[in-house]
Amino acid sequence: MKKIAILGSTGSIGTQTLEIVREQKDIQVLGISAGSNIDLLERQIREFSPRLAVVWEKEKAKELAVRTADLPVKILDGMDGLLALVNIPEVETVVTAVVGMIGVVPTLAAIQAGKNIALANKETLVTAGQIIMPAAKEKGVSILPVDSEHSAIFQSMNGEDKRTVSRILLTASGGPFRGWKKEQLANVRPEDALKHPNWTMGSKITIDSATMVNKGLELMEARWLFDVEPDQIRILVHPQSIVHSMVEYQDGAVIAQLGVPDMKLPIQYALYYPERRYRDGQRVDFASVGSLTFEKPDLETFTGLALALRAAKEGGVLPVVYNAANEYLVARFLRREIGFLDIPFYIGEAMEQLGRIKEPTLEEILYTEKETYTYLEKRLNRS
Ligand code: NDP
Ligand code: MG
Repeated sequence: MKKIAILGSTGSIGTQTLEIVREQKDIQVLGISAGSNIDLLERQIREFSPRLAVVWEKEKAKELAVRTADLPVKILDGMDGLLALVNIPEVETVVTAVVGMIGVVPTLAAIQAGKNIALANKETLVTAGQIIMPAAKEKGVSILPVDSEHSAIFQSMNGEDKRTVSRILLTASGGPFRGWKKEQLANVRPEDALKHPNWTMGSKITIDSATMVNKGLELMEARWLFDVEPDQIRILVHPQSIVHSMVEYQDGAVIAQLGVPDMKLPIQYALYYPERRYRDGQRVDFASVGSLTFEKPDLETFTGLALALRAAKEGGVLPVVYNAANEYLVARFLRREIGFLDIPFYIGEAMEQLGRIKEPTLEEILYTEKETYTYLEKRLNRS
């Protein structure tokens, strides 16, 4: 039996991970966690019998403990709970499926406890890649990508000498507003942005896909995962989402991974790597797909992506400001408190005002996250 713990088991990636557990029957789930959704967490406890379940919100954790008093599960809350979860001794792999920078501290703790990481939580690498990657190397643990593009890149690098990679071609669907101009984007509402053409995902990443900030975060994620310079990564809009990304080598060869858009493939690959297991489901029917198309991203319309390229290049603590500002602004957009174009606008402004530290420590990264929230809180509540 493979033994895992899941940070964020009630979300889109978390529930799909549990579907794989259900299908494969040789994975034991020792720990699960949620932010606040104790109804689903309770059902997961009853089905998967984990030893430990963690709820971020203290009151909800108390309520869950009462509800599960008939079971041998331990219920904890907050960051102490998440740290206990990643430290369960028998756990071999921690699936990081929480959304946002909240993942940084538990992911680092999991690495320090010698766990392999199946990484969905891209915000952790975006903001602390320079700390996470060396820590994983020092501990000799693997960071296996769950994000579909990064899984594709990883699969396209299997067996190759990393020094012969010349470029990574990171594909993007372009989101629901591909081809739109800035004037059209001004009136976009949350319900419009939540309609992704090819993928069903959590609400934060779906908004990130609509602004194309997601692709900016993925560029920063890729630079740390694959140890390349940001200017070695090219973004290509590929609306069919069949080519999940490609790697170009020094001899001009390009290797890609293709498949129907289904997150369970990269999740399963990360859980079983290097084994490639059978998966039921649809296969790409190239004759009916007809053509695969590629185009350059429109950086003048999707300015959030242009800002990510700057943050990646300048580095230091700037990606933290970029990411934290985005997290804060997306939450406010979803609450209908700001407009769609306010997201890139205020990310840009926060980047102008903050983010001067060059080689941030973990404390400085976490401080910058708070500083960014405070800055935007004041700025938006004043205007
Ligand atoms: P969801 O919003 O669907 O799920 C997030 C999970 O994190 C939920 O279990 C949620 O609990 C939990 N959570 C939220 N806040 C906290 C907190 N403070 N403490 C502990 N747990 C918390 O997100 P996704 O599954 O879509 O995305 C997860 C990560 O994976 C993101 O970083 C995303 O960018 C990345 N990713 C997602 C893809 C997808 O297809 N969904 C594809 C590629 C990457 P609760 O349910 O209680 O709110
Ligand atoms: Mg992705």
